[in-house]
Amino acid sequence: MATNNPGFSTLAVHAGAAPDPTTGARATPIYQTTSFVFNDADHAAALFGLQQFGNIYTRIMNPTQAALEERVAALEGGTAALAVASGHAAQMLAFHTLMQPGDNFVAARKLYGGSINQFGHAFKNFGWEVRWADPADPATFDAQFDDRTKAIFIESLANPGGTFVDIAAIAEVARRRGVPLIVDNTMASPYLVRPLEHGADIVIHSLTKFLGGHGNSMGGILVDGGTFDWSASGNYPMLSEPRPEYAGVELHKTFGNIAFAIGARVLGLRDLGPAISPFNAFMILTGIETLPLRMQKHCDNALAVAKWLKTHPKVAWVNYAGLDDDANHGLQQRYSPKGAGAVFTFGVKGGYEAGKTFVESLQLFSHLANIGDTRSLVIHPASTTHRQLTEEQQIAAGAGPDVVRLSIGIEDSGDIIADLDQALAAIQ
Ligand SMILES: *Cc1c(COP(=O)(O)O)cnc(C)c1O
Repeated sequence: MATNNPGFSTLAVHAGAAPDPTTGARATPIYQTTSFVFNDADHAAALFGLQQFGNIYTRIMNPTQAALEERVAALEGGTAALAVASGHAAQMLAFHTLMQPGDNFVAARKLYGGSINQFGHAFKNFGWEVRWADPADPATFDAQFDDRTKAIFIESLANPGGTFVDIAAIAEVARRRGVPLIVDNTMASPYLVRPLEHGADIVIHSLTKFLGGHGNSMGGILVDGGTFDWSASGNYPMLSEPRPEYAGVELHKTFGNIAFAIGARVLGLRDLGPAISPFNAFMILTGIETLPLRMQKHCDNALAVAKWLKTHPKVAWVNYAGLDDDANHGLQQRYSPKGAGAVFTFGVKGGYEAGKTFVESLQLFSHLANIGDTRSLVIHPASTTHRQLTEEQQIAAGAGPDVVRLSIGIEDSGDIIADLDQALAAIQ
């Protein structure tokens, strides 16, 4: 590139990609192959022994995936990344690289519902324990530590409520305790927030959402900040001890500030297997090229919608950090001055039946369980994702009978508001 300090939009289009040296193809090709030919037997041996970087088999690495990894690492300001099949796969591999059976980690209580399930149930079978803390109170993370605590996990902008978290304050707890801070940056995207700049050590994304951006491809990624010293405590044996599967290689010594990303690939992805397909990597790579444009439009539309809802007589309350009088507005201004994201909740007067009627009356909005699509999306948690809970539990989870969650798309804001207006009018 002509500049050695390219801006975010330039990186979104160019990072990780160059014209194909063989064909001249300008867009990154979909390398739809399972495997790659070795130059000779010594080359094959060097690749298998981790003495040389190179493609072996698409479960472990593939050139389309590599372009995606380099691009997201550049956008987050990390040293390396590992793209995988889904956001949940990225979380599993991150913890697999850090944890042994009997270890625990501290996570913010306000997370994407799927992450609460993964941490609280599926991880138990690996012998990993999650301990919950209040993302608004860093001291509650500290209070959960013991000598088997290996990491802190938060979302920069928490799903579904759309609240910003004081990343630097929680990073301070992690630093004092000598563990890495892992930040799920899915809801904000690196266009709005770059957690590594606020003291995070590892960033995770569901690429399925704003990075892919078009609601058509599953993917996940973990980004290595390159900041953490894995050998300081002896607490991360996957990264600091000789690996029997690679003739005694110590990853932190051989790979330095990309040791975490390498460990997640050659110990986690290689053996557990949740690879992203080259086709999905291509779709997400293409989506990222318009991330800055889309994300700004998502934010501008969401602010216009939130302001409009706030004045509507059938709306009881609106929680959007972009509103001047929102309790979370100060943190939003500090961490995400370009906008407050696309996802937020509001309450309709009239409770469960009103919420249900409202959602069923929308026409432009799609009623489904996703966020971060170009299209505007809606869900009524009490009649769908949270229907198995008692009303009391629903309210505690921020999914009370009147709560509606919106993910505002990039259509014309006037059309989005007109659809909300006619659906609110349908409530008796
Ligand atoms: C969707 C989501 C995930 C899980 O990602 P998948 O790609 O669906 O596996 C994790 N965190 C957040 C914040 C999400 O929105």
